[in-house]
Amino acid sequence: MLSRRKFLRNLSSLPLVGGLLGSHAASASSTTLTAPLRRDYFKELGIRTFINAAGTYTSMTGSLMPEEVMESILYASNEFVTLDELQDKVGERIASMVKCEAATVTTGAASAITFGTAGVIAGDNPENVVQIPHLEGTDMKSEVIMQNAHKIGYAHAIRNTGAHIIYVDTQKELEKAINEKTAMLFFLNANNQQGEIKHEAWVETGKKYGIPTFNDCAADVPPVENLWKYTQMGFDLVCFSGGKGIQGPQSAGLLLGRKDLIAAARMHAPPRGNTVGRGMKVNKEEILGMMVALEMYVNKDHEAEWKMWEQQIAHIADAVKDIEGVTTETFVPDLANHVPTLKVAWDDSKIQHDNDSLHEAMRSGHPSIEVAGWGSEPQIQITTWMLIPGQERAVANRLREVLMEASA
Ligand SMILES: *Cc1c(COP(=O)(O)O)cnc(C)c1O
Repeated sequence: MLSRRKFLRNLSSLPLVGGLLGSHAASASSTTLTAPLRRDYFKELGIRTFINAAGTYTSMTGSLMPEEVMESILYASNEFVTLDELQDKVGERIASMVKCEAATVTTGAASAITFGTAGVIAGDNPENVVQIPHLEGTDMKSEVIMQNAHKIGYAHAIRNTGAHIIYVDTQKELEKAINEKTAMLFFLNANNQQGEIKHEAWVETGKKYGIPTFNDCAADVPPVENLWKYTQMGFDLVCFSGGKGIQGPQSAGLLLGRKDLIAAARMHAPPRGNTVGRGMKVNKEEILGMMVALEMYVNKDHEAEWKMWEQQIAHIADAVKDIEGVTTETFVPDLANHVPTLKVAWDDSKIQHDNDSLHEAMRSGHPSIEVAGWGSEPQIQITTWMLIPGQERAVANRLREVLMEASA
């Protein structure tokens, strides 16, 4: 075996060595690459890589998977297994980890919504499975109810099954809207506060009328307890994204809940072909990777991690808060992306940047940095949970530099 240094020395005679040691390889986190890099694909392709001080954004490719997850993916890639047996066994393991009746790995939270809804609508009837998404003229239920305050684009995943969404505002409207066509009551966890009908009332109403309830918790870890809180509260189905806070594969997710409904959802999943879910296949590598990511997530020291995030946020805030015209504020969103978040605002008569130009300045430095907080106001938002530890220094230095350079 070549030592790392020797390997690097040998590599230096190759043409692609420039930028080989990106910020990731140089850091000391669990994502450090211990195997030698053979090719720098992103560089080869001319693709910008960046420090992610924004958060778990789909467009920014979600999160980074720990090395153990990558090992499980590599492990799985060397063997054949049957897809159903793998889903069965991994599902059992996941269900016991997150204390629910049953679970399955999907291609993400959005596909979990489609699978879950399809399962509720078609039940265990194979003829129904084939009919979806054409519900008209069948005896399948075709309406899903949700609150206006929970309106979200991802609800398209419900409509993929052929179901229509009925929107309501109040408990009274909800009960009035329920009829013999009502298949499911859909809840968006992140918007609990905004809606008039809260978690418990939603669940209770479902039980009262015998209609399954679904809670979309895609971006709702941390806290880790959310992985079992909502199934235990009585939601019949709950979904999470694999590639957000759990740091599993971005194209994986979890559907958790009642045994009969998970079994029904699986009837729409590959390897079965004549189904709405055929295009939402999870490969064995990602099924296993999802399980291992969840294990790591459940077992990690969440308190220590939280403290680290707070320190990183404080470090960045400290670097800029004395700049004239700059104000900083730290907060934690109640639900969804529940992590320490730094808001940096500036007086644009003192600092010559608008929102866009500040994003661009952070993006165009070396290393490139992405931050969050878009809109017309002169302010950005920063989270540190997607940083490789140590990167907060680069974020702090660059943010200070960008703000100082534009100071009047
Ligand atoms: C991210 C997100 C989704 C989609 O999740 P994927 O895992 O990318 O499919 C659905 N609902 C909410 C609320 C989300 O935040």
